[in-house]
Amino acid sequence: MSAIPQITKLNLEEIPKGVIWKAQFHIVSDGLGNPILIPLLIARGTKPGPVVGLTAAVHGNEINGLPVIQRVFQNLHLPSLCGTVVGILVVNVPGFLERKRQFNDDTDLNYKMPGKQNGNRSDVYIHRLLEHLVSKVHYLVDLHTASFGRINSYYVRADMTHPIIHQLALLQNAQIILNHPGNKGTLRHAAVERNIPAITVELRDPHTFQKDIIHESVVGITNILKYLSMQEGTIVPSNEPAVVCHHSYWLYTNHGGLLEVFPPLASFVTKGEPIAQVKDPFGEVLTEYTAPEGGIIIGKSVDPINQTGSRICHLGIIGNRE
Ligand SMILES: [Zn+2]
Repeated sequence: MSAIPQITKLNLEEIPKGVIWKAQFHIVSDGLGNPILIPLLIARGTKPGPVVGLTAAVHGNEINGLPVIQRVFQNLHLPSLCGTVVGILVVNVPGFLERKRQFNDDTDLNYKMPGKQNGNRSDVYIHRLLEHLVSKVHYLVDLHTASFGRINSYYVRADMTHPIIHQLALLQNAQIILNHPGNKGTLRHAAVERNIPAITVELRDPHTFQKDIIHESVVGITNILKYLSMQEGTIVPSNEPAVVCHHSYWLYTNHGGLLEVFPPLASFVTKGEPIAQVKDPFGEVLTEYTAPEGGIIIGKSVDPINQTGSRICHLGIIGNRE
């Protein structure tokens, strides 16, 4: 096996064409002065075209995106590739190694973008990520999952008022699209601020590899490459149109105890429908919760240990279907 190069700068013009190129990006150094390395996969086509960036594990325990990126690269037809695909396999390396969502200073990287050149540990890390890697791409797909104790439907967060982002979102063939410009601090928002059309794709459950959703996401990302004329082939259409939500929010418990959430993911609920109950340890029902309005279940808690104020479910309020 040939050694994988360590780089401190990414110059796409210098990367060999027509092959899959692996590298380790030395983003910062740890407390012993050893490099913290971000694994990269890059495919530079022999013909010109756009640069598509794929990011996984901004939250260190959200790992379905990692095999998605590997598979996208395995499926590329390199001789006909126009443009470049940049795969950032693990963004939050310290979090990934600690099997946790946060960075190793306990901050959530997806609240702090674009970071600072001369800031604290996570600020600098984020700043270098954006300056050296993300700024090189023309389009960005950021792959996430639910957090620990929760599960997600297959859904996309995207600003559907932006014509290109609108297309990127639809091409994922997701169950739900949440139309939102993106909160300040997120990678998606930071990318769009740099005029990089970006979507966030939520691939079900944390801390595991799930074959079905990995496959679906590979199809969705390959659809983007076809849409941008980077790869030949027919765009795979969705079996069922995505439900577009114009707004969403989490419901929380106001009573502690053992929580059970009833509706399945991506199911529709009507106002007043029972959605959850809390029991005491003896099995007696303490509280029941009903849907405050009609909507669709984007994500839900699967953690029964519910202290007052825990999340119940993520309710999407439906706009038009696309
Ligand atoms: Zn996430």
